[in-house]
Amino acid sequence: MIRVGLDIDDVLADFIGAYCKRYNLERPSTWEFDPLFGERYYELCQDIDFWLNLTPLCDPKKLSFTPVCYITARKCPREWTILWLLQNGFPNVPVYHSHLWGGSKSRVAKANKLDLFIDDCYDNYKEIKNSGIPCKLYTCSHNLQYDVGSDRIEKI
Ligand SMILES: [Mg+2]
Repeated sequence: MIRVGLDIDDVLADFIGAYCKRYNLERPSTWEFDPLFGERYYELCQDIDFWLNLTPLCDPKKLSFTPVCYITARKCPREWTILWLLQNGFPNVPVYHSHLWGGSKSRVAKANKLDLFIDDCYDNYKEIKNSGIPCKLYTCSHNLQYDVGSDRIEKI
């Protein structure tokens, strides 16, 4: 079995949909879309309801594999992430918040000997791929402009 790791926001959880709804914004076509993102993200990281109410983007029963771990750049408490995953029926495997690991997803991916990672963020995709770990870019409205050839996936 290949060892697959997953990002959470905009792969498993509709972060951007909830963010845009909360701040009355259009769904973005680029990640650099909100000049207030920093302040707003800080505010969200104090609000457990925001994180626990995110809509799942897929049915965990229909996942074609069991991930080895989740690696997210979230800065909210890690317990909230774990709670959301369990409440929504996702596999109970280790959750890493990469900012606690020097901000490097590839470092965590290597420590977990992953064969594949799936992320929607182009910068993370590049970082992980450049570290030698295969990575797929999960399609989202804010990453359609990147030509990653067969590394793009629409569904997990
Ligand atoms: Mg993401």
